[in-house]
Amino acid sequence: MKKKLFALVLSGLMVFSLAACSSSSSEGTTEEAATGEETTAAEGEEGATAEGEVPDVGVLIYKYDDTYISTVRNALEAALDGKANVSMQDGKGDQATQNDQLDVMISKGVDVLCVNMVDAQAASGVVEKAKAADIPVVFFNREPATDVIASYDKAIFIGTNAADAGKMQGDIITDLFTEHPEYDLNGDGKVQYVMFQGEPDNPEAIARTQYSVEQAVANGTEMEQVGETQVCNWDTEQAQKAMEAILAANEGKIELVIANNDGMAIGCIAALSNIGYNVEGGDKFIPVIGVDATDAAKDAIAKGTMSATVLQDGEAMGQAVAAVALNAASGVDFLEGTELTLDDTGVAVRIPYAPYTK
Ligand code: CA
Repeated sequence: MKKKLFALVLSGLMVFSLAACSSSSSEGTTEEAATGEETTAAEGEEGATAEGEVPDVGVLIYKYDDTYISTVRNALEAALDGKANVSMQDGKGDQATQNDQLDVMISKGVDVLCVNMVDAQAASGVVEKAKAADIPVVFFNREPATDVIASYDKAIFIGTNAADAGKMQGDIITDLFTEHPEYDLNGDGKVQYVMFQGEPDNPEAIARTQYSVEQAVANGTEMEQVGETQVCNWDTEQAQKAMEAILAANEGKIELVIANNDGMAIGCIAALSNIGYNVEGGDKFIPVIGVDATDAAKDAIAKGTMSATVLQDGEAMGQAVAAVALNAASGVDFLEGTELTLDDTGVAVRIPYAPYTK
């Protein structure tokens, strides 16, 4: 009840402020304010904002404390600067928190929602609510099921092709061990590797884990896993602790570290450097590869303490989300005036990856 009253007051305020900016609509302001909620809903139905006004864009982020997502967020904000009123919320890695933030944005009557799901499997709830309020949704980065996106004609997904990042890691592995036979420490012709996975159920993480090894094997590189797959939630510190433990149990038996992201790769390098490996200018080295091409990873690659990463172009992602959101807010086709294309699902746009080495 309190929430509803808040929304009513808020939408009333919005009408007041809109009216204040537009001299032609000053008549009837009081009446509109009294029925603010309905007015906002009616505007939403038209799917377009009046000329000279900028749209309200609601952005839900899975968590601010993620290096790659910060790049996307900054690029998105920069691309919308002056073109939209942006309200952005930090889901802090909690889907219940994000659901509450979604409710507030819908009650505010934003013109378009940009949603980076905490839990991609909860996307059907987002679609349901957005559909009921007739607000377009641009999902990005964390991918909902295709049938969920396809169930709403005003929903789209902007992401990457998760398998591609893994395949590029696989090609990097083959190149590394072909160019550096000395990386095969025990000389058995196989690569003894440790795998660091982002999350257990995240499709992006699963695909990177699977395709990196499959691709290396397809290239003719023999792969042998050491220990179990380490699930470290994309997190540097968790990966460092796990790597310390696995090194203590297997020192000298690990020839490669594959991480689903650079955050975890950097944690692994910290653990290695604690025991004298992968130190700048040092002579003991185990190749570590990640995904994202964060500044920390690029720095480590330049210093020679990390081998390679796969560039996930966060700026291109942020710019694409902004362009699609602005189109959606003005009621034109999602991809109008952009160079983006839909993939074969018909509901998703893919921003390509690229390998990044020294
Ligand atoms: Ca070996």
